[in-house]
Amino acid sequence: MTGRLAGDTCDRDPIWDREVETETHEAAFARASAAWQKQFPYLMQHSGFYSRRFREAGVTSDRLSLKDIVQLPFSTKADLKQAIDEAPPFGSNLCAPPAQVKRVYQTSGTTGAPSVLALSRTDIETWTVIGTRTYFATGIHDHSSVLTTFGAGPFVAGHTHFVLSRIGCRSVPVAPGDTDRVIFGLRSGLADTLLSTPSFAQYLANKLEKTDAKRMDEVTHIVTGGEPGGGIPAIRNHIQQVLGVTVTEVMGIGDIAPSLFGECPHQQGMHFCGGGHVWVELIDPDSREPMTIEAGAVGELVYTHLTREAMPVVRFLGADIARIEGSTCECGRTTFRVRVIGRRDDMFIVRGVNVYPSAILAVVGEFRPRVTGRARVVRKTADVSITPPVPIEVEVPAGHAGDSRLQAEIEEAIHRTLIFRAKVDLVPEQSFGESGYKTRLTVNRP
Ligand SMILES: [Zn+2]
Repeated sequence: MTGRLAGDTCDRDPIWDREVETETHEAAFARASAAWQKQFPYLMQHSGFYSRRFREAGVTSDRLSLKDIVQLPFSTKADLKQAIDEAPPFGSNLCAPPAQVKRVYQTSGTTGAPSVLALSRTDIETWTVIGTRTYFATGIHDHSSVLTTFGAGPFVAGHTHFVLSRIGCRSVPVAPGDTDRVIFGLRSGLADTLLSTPSFAQYLANKLEKTDAKRMDEVTHIVTGGEPGGGIPAIRNHIQQVLGVTVTEVMGIGDIAPSLFGECPHQQGMHFCGGGHVWVELIDPDSREPMTIEAGAVGELVYTHLTREAMPVVRFLGADIARIEGSTCECGRTTFRVRVIGRRDDMFIVRGVNVYPSAILAVVGEFRPRVTGRARVVRKTADVSITPPVPIEVEVPAGHAGDSRLQAEIEEAIHRTLIFRAKVDLVPEQSFGESGYKTRLTVNRP
């Protein structure tokens, strides 16, 4: 544990969902099983989309144990989009009457038109419960003052505002990308905690490193979310050192719950916080065979709603590749912990070996302050295999763009650590683009 969050205990706080978060694995399974015994017949009766898919897969009974969930087909983002298109605006997977839909978020629609996420009153409450466990785990408690850069909508991250309200902390909302107001809020002592993407926190650290980071003395904690990065040591350490804070991270999946995993101040990976409401499986990303959730296992996380009313999903392939870090922690939680390694879609293959761009960030980050910490892989074809040298663009502060020694050193470090040859291009800050909010780790440039 680092920084001033050390010693921040939550033992007696009524917000802590102690029973769910410290129960044995057997008790967690029994809790999930009991919920699934109601959820499965509910799906068969109310989801036109899933009941059809289950029957097609040969499952016709109204009863199916949680252990047998592996008999059900996976759902992809494209499947859920198809369900929407079948009966817009809510789709053939709407299991509640439209009048009971009380909140609607939209997805970013990376492929095609935006999609919608409908919530009933119960679903809204469930998201708040899971989100409260998640953010409470990170160390945000009622005495915290939290500046958040998450917009109220259209995306699900907006639900975080209801979570902060439930925790009872002070909330200081700022629009995404409004750097001046973020800096004002943090320097003037309005907040001691910042919620942002790791890209933004890194951007802030780079910006303040050159000026006077010390004037942010009130800020002790940054919680990152929205993309991986807060868990990459080179990125995390830099933010912690420059800003004098503890960095913990959260992760959510729009179709499942906006915050589902939260890392406690012991910084050993993100605790699963959806117990009783979401069932998680781990599968091999290539063969899709089930894997055991145990320390050291690396696979793709698959999610099933156990209690969702309006738009429940089953065996959703979230595309996040994660490493299981274990399931005991000094904080007392017994829920499994994960660190996300990358997105399945960002993965590429070099000479038969799977590579995630986050591994490149970890290597590049070591070259700070000669680099800013941002980098991306340039894909010249749609092919998942890349023949080395792998083209990589590395962002550098003005003045380092022509540094051929730096270029050679990074190429050599990538070769030594990741065992493939890279062709590094140093790109000055002004030309790298997408300043601050979220960084795309791969870019297609045929
Ligand atoms: Zn913990």
